[in-house]
Amino acid sequence: ATPTALMVGTGRGAQLGILIKGPEVLESTRRVDTVVLDKTGTVTTGRMTLLATHTATGVTEAEVLRLAGALEHASEHPIAQAVASGAAAQVGALPAPEDFANVAGLGVQGIVEGHAVLVGREQLLKDWSIGLPSSLARAKAEAEAAGRTAIAVAWDGEARAVLEVADAVKETSPEAIRRLRALGLTPILLTGDNRAVAESVAAQVGVDRVIAEVMPEDKVDVVRKLQAEGRSVAMVGDGVNDAAALAQADLGLAMGTGTDAAIEAGDLTLVRGDLRSAADAIRLSRKTLGTIK
Ligand code: ADP
Ligand code: MG
Repeated sequence: ATPTALMVGTGRGAQLGILIKGPEVLESTRRVDTVVLDKTGTVTTGRMTLLATHTATGVTEAEVLRLAGALEHASEHPIAQAVASGAAAQVGALPAPEDFANVAGLGVQGIVEGHAVLVGREQLLKDWSIGLPSSLARAKAEAEAAGRTAIAVAWDGEARAVLEVADAVKETSPEAIRRLRALGLTPILLTGDNRAVAESVAAQVGVDRVIAEVMPEDKVDVVRKLQAEGRSVAMVGDGVNDAAALAQADLGLAMGTGTDAAIEAGDLTLVRGDLRSAADAIRLSRKTLGTIK
């Protein structure tokens, strides 16, 4: 394509809500045959809600929400925001943690009112040799079977509760995935969330390949592996944990509603955070490169 054709394509992109870093980006979309989609915040809204609290014997819901809510209040993760606002709604003002740390891809840990608190995946508790009692393991399994994310809460060395949070699929996601398929692309859902939740989201939007329970630093390896199989990979993501994968992909598409790290790493920004723009972007670049000479 001539520089003029590429300029025209770039201008049309802006009209469609697609910000293109440079005209050369359009060239790299030509061979793309696979689209890797981050789940949380990309295919789903990322606005999670706290739906239920299951407590261990002898533990009250109020103390769980107070300690877990206080810790999650210090994190920006969508799950953390759901837990913190759900907790504040039920128990009122939350104490400030004395100590706090994010554990990427697993949850949060810290000190609240003198208690050593963990909130996150079951794996986070396992890392501290804390197991779930059978009642909480059952609550977790049931929540996940229903397509919800189960978050474990422990303090002072014991599992105390399982929280259920859920995140809705974006209304536009099923149509976006139909459009990507119509362009001959294979969609793959990639997430750090557990397999049951990932499968449920995939089924709702019409994706049949799911790569779940991937640690943030391993997302880039998933992209590399697909490329090693001979695929040309587009990656769509919004999170800090997607940045390396966006940079590694043949084409990185960042949600405009996402983090600065993702936007900086991507080749394209989908300004409206609408996944349908991903299909528009790929169609536009093919058109620009193919039909305009
Ligand atoms: P995704 O790849 O879907 O964007 P993340 O890698 O951010 O997800 O997180 C993976 C999983 O780790 C989450 O599904 C959740 O179970 C757990 N997790 C991460 N951060 C938190 C947190 N602040 N509170 C509770 N759980 C968390
Ligand atoms: Mg995400």
